[in-house]
Amino acid sequence: MRTNADIVIIGGGITGCSIAYNLAKKGVTNIVVLEKRYICSGSTGCCGAGVRMQWGTEMNCRMSKFSTEFYEHANDILEYDGDVEFKQKGYLLIADTEREIAQFKKNVEVQHACGIPSRMLTLAEAKEIVPHLNTDILLGAAFCEKDGFLNPFKTTDAFHRAARRMGVEFNTFTTVTGITVENGRVRAVVTDKGTINTPVVVNCAGGFSHDIAQMAGIDIPVYRERHQILVTEPVEPMQDPMVMAFGLNLYVQQSPHGSFIMGRGDANEPRDGRCTSSWRFLEEMAKTVDNVLPAIGKLRVVRQWAGLYNMTPDRQPVYDKSEQVEGFYMAIGFSGHGFMFGPVTGVVMADMITGSEPRIDASGLRLSRFAEGKLFVEPSVV
Ligand SMILES: Cc1cc2nc3c(=O)[nH]c(=O)nc-3n(C[C@H](O)[C@H](O)[C@H](O)COP(=O)(O)OP(=O)(O)OC[C@H]3O[C@@H](n4cnc5c(N)ncnc54)[C@H](O)[C@@H]3O)c2cc1C
Repeated sequence: MRTNADIVIIGGGITGCSIAYNLAKKGVTNIVVLEKRYICSGSTGCCGAGVRMQWGTEMNCRMSKFSTEFYEHANDILEYDGDVEFKQKGYLLIADTEREIAQFKKNVEVQHACGIPSRMLTLAEAKEIVPHLNTDILLGAAFCEKDGFLNPFKTTDAFHRAARRMGVEFNTFTTVTGITVENGRVRAVVTDKGTINTPVVVNCAGGFSHDIAQMAGIDIPVYRERHQILVTEPVEPMQDPMVMAFGLNLYVQQSPHGSFIMGRGDANEPRDGRCTSSWRFLEEMAKTVDNVLPAIGKLRVVRQWAGLYNMTPDRQPVYDKSEQVEGFYMAIGFSGHGFMFGPVTGVVMADMITGSEPRIDASGLRLSRFAEGKLFVEPSVV
């Protein structure tokens, strides 16, 4: 392990790997990534890996459009000898209240202004796309055929390998235990394998980002929340798009080999970092999917698991540098959309860290918004 680095990135998930790749691409040469387990072992490896451009704010639409267009060409751009498996089969957003329909209509206008090919659907049109949808309980839907999902392991691996080829050093099974700050500046990162002197550290530790900030004496308003997900036995292809509902609380996709992967949120989930599975989730998930997509409710579940959402008060990420400690950067608090923001996160942070002109406007995601009471209100977030 190097003992001196220009930049140390903490976390080997999609965020850390994308930032490492983008910094190296900009010509930064002495970068070290530290990961306490293996690459993609955190939330990224637990996620649904869905990518949607159907947001309700211009900033989120533009950022997810950037990421989607990147993912369309990720194999070539990252010169990956595998396949990130981007399946653009759409996201079908379903609504069961008039309020949601009205919101979807407003969102579609914002999306069109950003060049996103989404549209409102009648229930008959929605049923044509997903024949097993229980439209009796719905009022309408929105659809974007360019949304989709990827393989999170291969995608993270592609960023990781591209960064490594450009000279980034990755140290797995290396736990950060401390950050040395002197005279208000980052001086070193301490790990269980030794110390690395560095003037810059980037906090990409997902569900552990609060702990990492505290090591530098910084308090940030993030917390972690368990989110569970399950997979069924594989069946013949029967559902192209991801089906997602904010009000009815579910997302369901059929993976390329036939299994259904699904999840839902629950405000009562623990916030102590636990990633165990619960019977309650299994029961609630089964009831929900049986109501919305009855044919899937009949399938056998083969496995369930859990990961951490890293949450902020407005469920939007923080891309910033600390005003308190010079050299301390953070890309954290991604709630349920850090995977789809992976490509754009790397670009935003690489520009910020190298002091370049921002290619993407992410100014609404400063840390100070919480203290200033200027939360970023996104109407269509999970
Ligand atoms: C069930 C579930 C479903 C989801 N579905 C989607 C989805 O469909 N689409 C989407 O966009 N997002 C989804 N998300 C959210 C997404 O997974 C996250 O926002 C994203 O993966 C965050 O990536 P990250 O690299 O910031 O964090 P992580 O992937 O968690 O990476 C952080 C890394 O930091 C490491 N680390 C922590 N502490 C230390 C330390 N002290 N020393 C060294 N290393 C350390 C961890 O081991 C971890 O590997 C989902 C999340 C969950 C849990």
